Amino acid sequence: MGIFKSLSNLIFPEGNICLFCKDYRDNERGHICSNCKDFIEFVHREVAISLPHVERAYYSVLYTRLIRENIHSFKFQGKAYLYKAFGDILLETIYEKGLHKKIDVIAFVPMDRLKKAQRGYNQCELMAKYIGERLEKPLLKNNIIKIKVTKEQNKLGLTERRTNLKGSFRAVKIQDFKAKEILLIDDIITTGTTMEEISKLLISNGAKKVYGLAITSSMRI
Ligand SMILES: [Zn+2]
Repeated sequence: MGIFKSLSNLIFPEGNICLFCKDYRDNERGHICSNCKDFIEFVHREVAISLPHVERAYYSVLYTRLIRENIHSFKFQGKAYLYKAFGDILLETIYEKGLHKKIDVIAFVPMDRLKKAQRGYNQCELMAKYIGERLEKPLLKNNIIKIKVTKEQNKLGLTERRTNLKGSFRAVKIQDFKAKEILLIDDIITTGTTMEEISKLLISNGAKKVYGLAITSSMRI
């Protein structure tokens, strides 16, 4: 069921349809119409908190209503096809910040197996794969494993967030990223705990640098 659901969403009939509002697109390129684009505020902003193992962490757009609602659909309503619209948004920040010239491989925040089976897909993986194809960079697909089932980070307080993820990721086939500069893709960055935890793991297993990139940030600072 999960597989069929996600497959039907991946083959959403595109044509000239905006993936956010389903209206016809007036522009030839991209997956978002100009009307929706008016409601997107690009900031390409660097996260202002210290994440010791992250070289730099960025997010692309402000957490406005259009973005919030579409991320919700992307994660919780089975609209897997939105990876293209969000992937295009992330690519704008990648080019703006020159990340495509620095990074060797693309990684993403993994899900534990149970959660991925329930959802049918990992939204961060879909975006990372799309970006990897566009930039012609390899994807670290099975190198970071979520070994612990954890509570949703956004349902926890700051202290709990830090302990919740401890020891919940494992790195395998480390030769794939040894001495490499990695771009780590997430959907929303809130406290940066997830990004820091995964970067720490990658760096301690030989990665050279980890850059983080999320669509948006719900940080209230
Ligand atoms: Zn639209």
